[in-house]
Amino acid sequence: MTLPLRPDLVGLEPYGAPQLDVPTLLNVNENPYQPPEVVVEAVVAAVREAAHGLNRYPDRDFLDLRAELAGYLATESGAVGLDASRVWAANGSNEVMLHVLQAFGGPGRVAMSFAPTYSMYPEYARDTLTGWHVVPREPDFSVDPDAAIAEIRRVRPAVVLLASPNNPTGTALPIETTRRLAEATRDTGPDGAATVLVVDEAYAEFRREGTPSAVTLLPEHPHLAVARTMSKAFAYAGARIGYLAAAPELVDALRVVRLPYHLSAVTQAVARAALAHADVLQKQVAAIRTERDACVAWLRERGFVAVDSDANFVLFGTFADRRSVWQGLLDRGVLIRETGPEQYLRVSIGTPEEMAAFRDALTEVTGA
Ligand SMILES: *Cc1c(COP(=O)(O)O)cnc(C)c1O
Repeated sequence: MTLPLRPDLVGLEPYGAPQLDVPTLLNVNENPYQPPEVVVEAVVAAVREAAHGLNRYPDRDFLDLRAELAGYLATESGAVGLDASRVWAANGSNEVMLHVLQAFGGPGRVAMSFAPTYSMYPEYARDTLTGWHVVPREPDFSVDPDAAIAEIRRVRPAVVLLASPNNPTGTALPIETTRRLAEATRDTGPDGAATVLVVDEAYAEFRREGTPSAVTLLPEHPHLAVARTMSKAFAYAGARIGYLAAAPELVDALRVVRLPYHLSAVTQAVARAALAHADVLQKQVAAIRTERDACVAWLRERGFVAVDSDANFVLFGTFADRRSVWQGLLDRGVLIRETGPEQYLRVSIGTPEEMAAFRDALTEVTGA
């Protein structure tokens, strides 16, 4: 007997970085700080309250959570006009973006992105039977708007996925680039429809001064969607909450493809508890940004190439044999990520102690 596995899935392995038990974990861009005690207390109280109602299905449309996410996003980005009808959420922004492909991709359609970028994007395309087209970024990992627009006109993708700040390079898109792409994609999709332009801002809170969020462009562009997550800045990767802001018509299309009650009552309660303490969590974000800039400066001082980062990680190199450097760090208890362009490695920003362990290990391994 054989299982009737889809031919395109034969031999494929599940995606995921190694989960190893070592002292210094700097490989999946987690926030190194545990949620502060005041958040833990709020979570416990919220879950206790929600537990009494677990015999019932949760609020399917979770309008309270969506309104609170809209409020947070307005404060964080300075954008106007956000409300519950313009926000969507799911179990991580990966699920939110899968909803986008479920609603707007599909057989005969194409999703497109600019590499190197997040390795999950082609998986959303594969899982929704959407074609996949990838275009290389410029040598400095930026996206050239003229070249991008020409390629979009040629390929006519239903969806474009653009990470800003990008993973694994840390590169943020200038707001002018996003604006030009949004203006150029009103009729570049299938049959003269728009292309849905997804700006994945998973790392937005870590961006440097003077980099506005694409959320500020939403009022003029009903085919723009900005994805965010609580996994990184909110120190909430384990809670699995991601969200997206877009025009109400776009959000309504996502409501069609979601599974019923996809966001559990516990998840909704836990998300709202953290949102009520967003200000406390911002302090950790500031500490991580400082540590990131210090890491870039240190790497350059030691003669490495370090890519400018607006995120909570740094892509650095270059190594003729990056595997042996990665292994050397691991042998010293420091797990980073072997990803991105050949010759580069990516390190997530940890606590000052963790970054000291990283610097010591790298110095030993490379003699820098
Ligand atoms: C971490 C990350 C996400 C967030 O994933 P979640 O499912 O929300 O945990 C999204 N996009 C990129 C580019 C990321 O690196």
